[in-house]
Formats: sequence, C-alpha cells, structure tokens
Amino acid sequence: MTRFDTLVVGAGICGSTAARILHRAGQRVVVLEARDRVGGRVWTVRADGRTFDVGASWIHGIENNPLADAVQAFGIGTAEFTVGSYQPDGRPIAYYSPDGTRLSENAAARFAADVHYFDEAFAATIAESSPGVSFGDAVEATLTQLDWDAGRLDRVREFLAHRAEEQLGVGQGDLDAHGLDDDAIEGDEVVFPDGYDELAVRLTEGLDVRLQHVVTHVRWSDDGVLVRAGSHSFSADRAVVTVPIGVLESADFIIEPPLPEPVSGALDRLAMNAFEKVFLRFPIKFWDENVYAVRRQGEAGRWWHSWYDVTQPHGLPTLLTFAAGPCAQQTRHWSDERISDSIVEALRGMYGERVVPPDSVYVTRWQDDPFSYGSYSYMTVGSRPRDHDDLATPIGGVLHLAGEATWTDDPATVTAAMKSGHRAAERILERRVPFCEIWEAMNR
Ligand SMILES: Cc1cc2nc3c(=O)[nH]c(=O)nc-3n(C[C@H](O)[C@H](O)[C@H](O)COP(=O)(O)OP(=O)(O)OC[C@H]3O[C@@H](n4cnc5c(N)ncnc54)[C@H](O)[C@@H]3O)c2cc1C
Repeated sequence: MTRFDTLVVGAGICGSTAARILHRAGQRVVVLEARDRVGGRVWTVRADGRTFDVGASWIHGIENNPLADAVQAFGIGTAEFTVGSYQPDGRPIAYYSPDGTRLSENAAARFAADVHYFDEAFAATIAESSPGVSFGDAVEATLTQLDWDAGRLDRVREFLAHRAEEQLGVGQGDLDAHGLDDDAIEGDEVVFPDGYDELAVRLTEGLDVRLQHVVTHVRWSDDGVLVRAGSHSFSADRAVVTVPIGVLESADFIIEPPLPEPVSGALDRLAMNAFEKVFLRFPIKFWDENVYAVRRQGEAGRWWHSWYDVTQPHGLPTLLTFAAGPCAQQTRHWSDERISDSIVEALRGMYGERVVPPDSVYVTRWQDDPFSYGSYSYMTVGSRPRDHDDLATPIGGVLHLAGEATWTDDPATVTAAMKSGHRAAERILERRVPFCEIWEAMNR
C-alpha cells in the first residue's frame, strides 16, 4: 500500500484548496472523492446550451476575499448580481403587498427603511442576548421595542423569518440568535455565467484525485491515518477530512477513535439545513422589467416569497426561487411538477393570468444527497460562533476537519470552504502560506 504524506477526503473547494497548497509544497497528496466529479456543493448542470449552478451561485462580496482573487487569477468570468444576501434594497426589487398589488417606490422605500431601522436595534438585542436564545426570540424582543402599528411590525417580522430561511435554510425558531452574525457583505456580489464549477476544475488540475471513492472509515492514531473506501485502503501521515457535517453526523462515515472534545461538542451543536433551489424557465417573461428580484409580502408569501430574475446571460426567461427551511422540509417528497404548480399559483397571486406554465423546471434535492445531507451548516439554538473554529481543532496531530462549517467568520459559503482548506494546509506545513499559492502555477 502506497503511503501518502497527506490524504484529503473530498474534492470540494476546501479539499481542493488544501490539496493544491500541500502538493505545491512538495507533499505526496491523494484526494478521495465519492462523486464522479469534483466541486462538491459547487456544481454546474448544463442543458440546452445553458448553465445552472445548482449548488452555490454567488461570491458574497468580492472585496478582501481570496476566493474572488482566485477566480480572477484563473480568468473565470463573473457577472455582478448583488442580491444574494437577503437585503430589502440596494438593487431594484419589485415588492408585492399582501393583497397582491405592487408597492409604489415610496412604499417600498419606507418598508426598506423600516428593515434598516429594525436591523440596528436587532444587532443590539443579539449582542446583549444570553446563550440559548433563538433568532426568532431575538426578533420578537426587538419588535416589542418599536412603537409601530401591527401592519408594519408584521411586514418586518415576516421579512426576518424569510431572511433566516433564505440565508441559512432553517426556521428562525431553530436558529441561534447569533446564526447570522457574519452576514455582512464586502463589495459587490457576483455570479458565474459559464458555471461556478470551473473553479473546482482549475483547483484540481494536476492533483491526484480519485473519483468514485466513497470513504466509510477513518482510523487515526499517533502513527497517522488509515482510510477505507470500498475495497481500497489508503494510509498517510495525516488526513484532512472535508466532508459536510451532514456526512460526519451520519452512520455512513465512521471515525475511530471517536472525535474528542472540543470537536465532538461543536459537531453536536451545528446542523445541516434544508435548502433547495428551483429554476423555472418560461416561454415568455411576464414579470416586471428591470428588476433583480420580486418579493411577495403577507401570508401568501409564507413559502414562495422571493424570485430572482436569472434570464441573463442566456436570454431565456428564467426565475430562481428557493424552498428554504420549513418549506424545503415539507416539499421534500413532492414531485417537481407539484412544486412547480405551487410556485405558479403563488406567481398568479401577483401577475394573474399572465403567468403561463413553465417550459422546464429544475429542483435540487440536496437534503437527500448521501454526500451532503443538506446544503450547508447552521448554528442550532445554544451553539456558539466559535463552535465552527472548534470543529477544526487538530486531532492527535494527524486529523484535521475542514470545510465550510469549520470557519467562524463567514460559514456556509464557498469563501469559508476555501479559507478553511488554506488553514488546514498552513497547520500541516507549520508556516504561513500566502493566499496566492492557491492559484499560482504549480511547477511540479
Ligand atoms: C443549493 C446551495 C446553494 C448555495 N449557495 C451558495 C452561494 O450562493 N454562495 C456561497 O458562498 N455558498 C453557497 N452555498 C454553500 C457552498 O456551496 C458550500 O459552503 C461550499 O461549496 C462547501 O465546500 P466544502 O469543500 O466545504 O464542501 P463540499 O463542497 O461539500 O465538499 C466536500 C466533498 O466531500 C465529498 N464527500 C462526501 N462524503 C464523502 C465520502 N464518504 N467519501 C469521499 N468523499 C465524500 C463530497 O462529494 C464533496 O465533493 C450553497 C450550497 C448549496 C447546496
């Protein structure tokens, strides 16, 4: 059996980043990947000459972000699209009131001002909240401080519920009050007209990646690690395990001896969410011109409330919406057709009979994906922000957990995945590694 310096489990952005840095430093590295492709939760589906990013779409803020620097250095094309973070304004959004009529510009601006005012008070509530308070409780505690009529309170209350669902794929009662602490965006957000997956392909160029290797056992000791993937066994001085926490928490993936504290406690307090994308392509564009997004207020928007116009760059009228949190859980076993019908009905509540049935519908099924079990991590009530970093505490000097869930500053993102892979490589090499080593040409 060949012995490697470092064994990396998972060829997502985290694992590819770590492997690339270590390979560049002269290590003998192998990457074991369960799927038949690289990229993990960065996944582009191509059909009819069009691309759909069915995993991550956005870089959430391109300033001070090594991910954006890597994308630029690789020459991967991007397009500005700054509404990925759930903000009430900033880019043109068509708001529809609870009765289905479009809000005037003034009314929409007043609503956005209410959300901004609320957000300032909300930040103070969260800063002062004791451990174990949910995001929903913190919202209610803040709303009681506001001398507003019931209608204004309801609009802001539902917007915050939708923010928790759409940003983190969880109902606000199940999310810790600190769960969106790191939601700030630095600079524009961008998407990938030709597909986000090019990043994963570029990162893994020249690496020894073994696809369709489903790792089931990781045994660690002072001597290193032994990993089993089907009939194959691999040994190495150390391993970087980047599988999503949904896999770590499942019975499919055994780590022996079991994870010690503080890693095990942190893993117990973090959870995988329920968040699915739905792309609907229509024969005609019936919604408002020159808007990035359409949002529905009131009870009619409880599940389907936000649609993003992703018609560009292919010119075919397409809306993207999300089944998020409770909606994703309850529609999990629905057929694509039933989900589409439900969304069309919601759109008719705003656009009436102008809404025609879609030509094609694509629904993601991340909750049922055996190599993910959800879309990304969130903080359960009672967890602490530092649980993310604690999850990456090196174990026995030989085992490093890494991935989006292990990065405190901006978890649940591709940026977090890349930074945590970089950190794991730095810890292994026991030196600082400039970020540019991720994208500079490899000489070996
Ligand atoms: C629908 C959706 C929308 C998102 N939107 C955004 C967004 O707009 N912007 C953003 O920044 N982030 C977004 N994210 C989150 C982002 O995609 C992830 O945070 C990031 O890609 C995680 O990278 P990773 O390397 O940590 O994990 P992964 O990409 O999950 O990589 C882990 C790898 O391990 C492999 N693996 C799993 N089990 C095994 C096993 N047993 N053996 C071997 N290999 C295994 C997996 O196949 C995978 O390739 C979104 C995610 C989803 C699903």
